Amino acid sequence: MKTMKRKYIIDTSAIFSGKPIDLGESEIITTLKVSDEITAGGRDYQNFQYLKEKGLIILTPTKNVIKEVEKISNKTGDKNRLSDTDIELIALALELKRKGDSEIIILTDDYSIQNVANTLNLKFESINQAGITKRFKWGYRCRGCGKKFKDSIKICPICGAEIRSIVSNKKIINNCSDKK
Ligand SMILES: [Zn+2]
Repeated sequence: MKTMKRKYIIDTSAIFSGKPIDLGESEIITTLKVSDEITAGGRDYQNFQYLKEKGLIILTPTKNVIKEVEKISNKTGDKNRLSDTDIELIALALELKRKGDSEIIILTDDYSIQNVANTLNLKFESINQAGITKRFKWGYRCRGCGKKFKDSIKICPICGAEIRSIVSNKKIINNCSDKK
């Protein structure tokens, strides 16, 4: 029996963490947008160069999969919290997972990436923090009148006060790899 090769998809926070990333025999992959965020000369750049020397692969997902991830993150309420870079990273993980020849794990400290990844049944591990232990959906509540909204809006249409985001629909997730 063949064991599936592990592939880690790393985000900018994984590079910025400055922690030595040693994933053994696993492949390390990131997206072009992540690599574009690394400015030459800094400490992050050194860490990035080091990862490249160790065989970091840079890939870009297809547009269809990016659109798919945008739709999902809209549903979970994470869309506004995710940059194009984040969306691209999740899309790449999803695309590689569908090839089915390897185990795909996203390495990120970003809770919104983790939340969307979890919704898509993608595995993730965090670098610094313990990963989220609950799947959640963002909700929105008016600071003034307290009315709850499903969609992300800035100003309450009823009283004109500011809307803030709240966490709703907590569910325990089973595949969190950082459970302690
Ligand atoms: Zn209101």
